[in-house]
Amino acid sequence: MQLRDDAPWSGMTVARFIEQLFDRDLANQISALVESRIPVEELIRKTTGYTPDFPDLYIVNEELPYIAISEYRCVVSPSFLAHCLAVGARNQSIPLMGGLGSAVVVTQNPLPAALIIFQWSIAHEYYHIAYRHSELLERNAQEPLGDYAVERDADLCAVAVVYRLTQRVIEVPEERDVEIRILILHWIFWHLRLLTLGNSETSNTHTPSTERLTAIAMKLTHLPLTVRHPVDVELNQPTTRARIAPIFEALQYFDAEFLQHFGSPESGTISDELKRFADPGGISLRITEAWQPMENTRRHRAHLQWLHSGTFADGANSARIFRLPDGGNSNLPASQLPSS
Ligand SMILES: [Zn+2]
Repeated sequence: MQLRDDAPWSGMTVARFIEQLFDRDLANQISALVESRIPVEELIRKTTGYTPDFPDLYIVNEELPYIAISEYRCVVSPSFLAHCLAVGARNQSIPLMGGLGSAVVVTQNPLPAALIIFQWSIAHEYYHIAYRHSELLERNAQEPLGDYAVERDADLCAVAVVYRLTQRVIEVPEERDVEIRILILHWIFWHLRLLTLGNSETSNTHTPSTERLTAIAMKLTHLPLTVRHPVDVELNQPTTRARIAPIFEALQYFDAEFLQHFGSPESGTISDELKRFADPGGISLRITEAWQPMENTRRHRAHLQWLHSGTFADGANSARIFRLPDGGNSNLPASQLPSS
């Protein structure tokens, strides 16, 4: 990104940063990107009851793609914004789900895809604030999985936000709703996979991208169609069950494409991740919360978690509904993919 030489570009406001850009087209795209945080703020306020202002957004002089939040400010690096735009500009066809017309519209213009990526990222940060994750961690300092739990919570609550916002933009009939979910998964997939490609993923707080993406796909299977529908926590509804195969096949398909271009990264593959949770006959899903021992987190924030089928005896609460094709082969030929 090209800045004027005299730009004091450490911790500047977003407005000032945009002013400094030579390239007006880029400035407009970045403007649209950062302004897309407003509906995210509004939706999170509405769903959580959080009323104070969210921390202001600043641009920081940091070489790597970077976004973070504290009580006082949210910071993002220019390369993070560039990353959102670059990933959104990847002109990929999504050869899934036969009639994915809406995806074609989105991929012709990089900005909508970049918005999905940015809105998911900033929603993740805002949830750390809205749910007071840092206080929760302080009070539960002895909880070894605390960091992972709050990161997972932020990831998955942010998925719900992006799903609701994308529903407003792309209207599809109810029977094609799964396509919106796959579209969201597609862009978050490329965002996280490419973001972590050059970096070691040995983060103290985040799990590897394969694990995060598997959890995100899982969340997308059981998010109710509208906020008025109850969360189908036991996966009893045929509509919930019908989403599982297409969403996970899409995830494996994206990873096959990724591995073809970039080889096997340190973080492993989606297939390996799925196999961790699969017995030869299938996969069980169940509502759990990774941070169950921690206080005040139950409310409505139930996220599904994969479990080994063998790890719990209570068959009534498990649902063996998704079969990995050939033990999780990541090189799925297109003919094996769903066509409707
Ligand atoms: Zn986080």
